[in-house]
Formats: sequence, structure tokens, C-alpha cells
Amino acid sequence: MKSKPLRNIPSVHELLESPPLQNLVERANRNVVVNGVRTFLDNLRQEMQTSADLPIPNPTELAERIVHWIQEDETPSLRPVVNATGILLHTGLGRAPLATEALRAVQEVSRDYASLEVDLTTGQRSQRVAAVTKLLKQLTGAEASVVVNNNAGATLLTLAALAQGKEVIVARGELVEIGGSFRLPEVMEQSGAVLREVGSTNKTRATDYRNAISERTAALLKVHPSNYVVTGFTEEASLDDLITLGRQRHIPVVHDIGSGALLDFAQFGVEGEPLATHSLRQGADVVLFSGDKLLGGPQCGIICGSRVYIDRIASHPLMRALRVDKMTLAALAATLRLYRDPQEAIQAVPLLRLLNTPVDNLRQRAEKLSIQFATLPTIATAKPVDDVSFLGGGSLPNQQLATVCVALVPVSGRVNQAAAELRAADPAVFARVHNEQILLDLRSVSPSEDQKLMEAAHQLTAG
Ligand SMILES: *Cc1c(COP(=O)(O)O)cnc(C)c1O
Repeated sequence: MKSKPLRNIPSVHELLESPPLQNLVERANRNVVVNGVRTFLDNLRQEMQTSADLPIPNPTELAERIVHWIQEDETPSLRPVVNATGILLHTGLGRAPLATEALRAVQEVSRDYASLEVDLTTGQRSQRVAAVTKLLKQLTGAEASVVVNNNAGATLLTLAALAQGKEVIVARGELVEIGGSFRLPEVMEQSGAVLREVGSTNKTRATDYRNAISERTAALLKVHPSNYVVTGFTEEASLDDLITLGRQRHIPVVHDIGSGALLDFAQFGVEGEPLATHSLRQGADVVLFSGDKLLGGPQCGIICGSRVYIDRIASHPLMRALRVDKMTLAALAATLRLYRDPQEAIQAVPLLRLLNTPVDNLRQRAEKLSIQFATLPTIATAKPVDDVSFLGGGSLPNQQLATVCVALVPVSGRVNQAAAELRAADPAVFARVHNEQILLDLRSVSPSEDQKLMEAAHQLTAG
């Protein structure tokens, strides 16, 4: 095609009369289509002004391109995906999927008005977190608790309430970056507390904390490094050491356990995850954890501990800025209710159900799926392979889980492109790429999603 002046571009009106766009108008909102055509043409005119010899497509081709562009633009960027990465708590994929019971509770309290801050018997104003405090008390043994937007918020609020303008002593080796390049120490400093780092990266002793205590000390902080591990020549002050020290000097001990396990994960082959219950029983004054990590609930930060400290935390002005909404509270309450019977939790909380799936079950599904995948013209080979999955993005050696994947080799040999096509497919599928293969890790896939893997693979191109 040779270059043409701008006036040869068809008009909005003409384009809207074309069959592809007529068809789209019948299915979609007319205003969306009209605006889409205008924006597309504006962009095209600009492109043509900067590169004069850009060919103008013929009207039908142009209409088809516009339809495609509008459809892509209209696809919500936040939508469900199948997580076949094997990373069970993938922050990029929304961490924990919710239990059906939690979803139902969210729907019920948000469809209608809800008793969010009123006591149904007295009609008086009540605390919105009352919906979960009783459950948290039952499950963790804590005297009191409060819930905020996330665990970073819980840390910020706790330090602001207990240590603003004062010092918090923390081991240098525990000041972790929590992904997305957010550094915990930077969040902590926003509380107005001064972090007094003690020890070296690999070694911290109880005496390091003892020597750092002064009249400015307001708290001793211990952080569970859930996404990394320092091995070899290491030493850390135990929680017990800090509690003993805190008691002697009347300084509260804050334990950020991060992951929020409410039952023993050793039963799933995951070692070393602290339990809120243990930490509180040992005598930690305040324990912090996320709601959407090992607990398998909605995004939130849970603060449990002694009433004196929780009262100070809950009455701090930042509490209002960090509070959770009724949907989060409903989902959390429903999830916690499941934990009153641990066996029920393992069946009903998706994260626990995935963790608890026997390898044999994964292998049978992988074998069955491999046979189906192998029939696709775009797939050269498909076979089940044994591998390991990780609980979270930062892979800890003691968080490895046995798994079985479906290993796919596309006919094109271009694994990265095929992985991108799976992500862009409907349903979208996220996989791992390893050794020139696409690995669909079934550890993080529910059996009810197996056929979605196939649906997405049907959309692979040979290119
Ligand atoms: C994940 C994590 C946080 C941050 O929790 P969010 O709920 O993501 O805000 C804080 N501390 C530790 C130890 C963590 O593992």
C-alpha cells in the first residue's frame, strides 16, 4: 500500500456501519464502541503524522482491528486466573483463595445492611472487630485482638501506639524486605519509632538486646523471616530470651510471625512456621500476622495479645486509617469459624486443602491431563513429572512440597511465548518455565480447575 493523506481514513460513522462493528454494538455498550472508534482513529491520525508513509488499512481490516482493540481494552485487568506456578501463596496472584463459607459471608453482609458497629441486643454502638475477637481468643488464647488492613499496617500501628518517639530494639538479621521492594524497616520507621538494630546479619545474642536497652526503649521486636533463611554460622536470641528480658525490664515484646499459621504445618511437611498460640503462650505481649498467608483468609493484619497493649493499639488515631471493611471482617470471621474444627478447616480452607492433597492424587491427574494435552496439535510432548513446589515466592528449603507437574513442550519450541499465550488466554493460566518446558504444577491447582488448563491450552498458537 502506498501512503495516503489523512482524509482517506474512514469516518467514525462509516466505520460504525461496518459489519464487524455493527456486530460489536449489538453485544456491547454503544457508547463504549463509539468512544473506542474515536480514540482508535485519533491514535491512528497521530501515528500517521509522525510517520507519513504508514499505510492505511482498508475499511474492513480497520474495523476488525478496532473491534479487537476495543475487546482487549474492555477485558478487566483484574480477573480470575488458574495458578499453576506451584507457589501456593503468590502475592502477584492474590495470595490465598477464599473458602466458600467466607465468600457466602461476604455476599450476605455486603448485599444488605449489616450489624457492623451495633450490638444487636442493646442497640448500642459496638466495636466492628467484635465479630472476630471472640474467635481469635478461642483460637489463639489471646486476651484481646484487633484487625487492620494488612500485616504491614499491623506493624506500623503497633509501633506507633507503643513506641512513637522511642526506640524499638530489633535484630539486624531480621529486618527483611517483604517483596515488591517494600522493606519492613522503612514501614516501621513511618511509625515514628526509632529502630535500634542490634547484632550482625548472621548472629544476635540476648546480650545484644540487653546492652541496647535504655530509658528510651519502648519495645523488643522479633520478626519471623518467612521468605529467607540465614544458614551456617548463625545464632539468634530466642523468643524465650526476649520474653525473659522484657519481663525483667518491663518492656513489651512484639512478635511479628508473618505467616499466621493457626495449626501445625509440619503435618503438611512444612517445618518451622511459628504458631500464634505458641508465641502467646510463651509470653509474647503482642503477636502480629497476615490473614491471607497461611491462615488462608482475606487480606488483613491480625494483632493479638495482652489487653493493656491491644487497648492502646486499638485506640491510636491510625487505627481509623487502617481499619478493615465489613467484607473483610465477614470473610475473616467465616474462615476462623472453620478453624474451630481443624479437620473441617483442612477440608474447607482452599490453601490447606491444596497443601493436604496427596501426591498420588496429583500424579493421577497429571497422567490424565498429559494424555489430553498430547492430542493438541500445538503440543509436541506432554508428560507428568515429579518436582517440588514452594509455599511462598521467597522459597525456603524447609517449605518445599512434593508435587507432580504436567511438563509441556510446544511444537514451536518457544516456551516463553507459549507461557505468555496461556497467561493471555481465557481462562488465564500462570505456569512455570523450566528447562525449555512449561510446567503446570498441580499442587496449586484445584481438581475443579483441571479442565481450565485444557481450555487455555486449546488457545495456544503454533507460532
Ligand atoms: C508478609 C510479612 C509481612 C507483611 O504482611 P502483609 O500482610 O503483606 O502486609 C510482615 N512481616 C512479615 C514477617 C511477613 O512475612
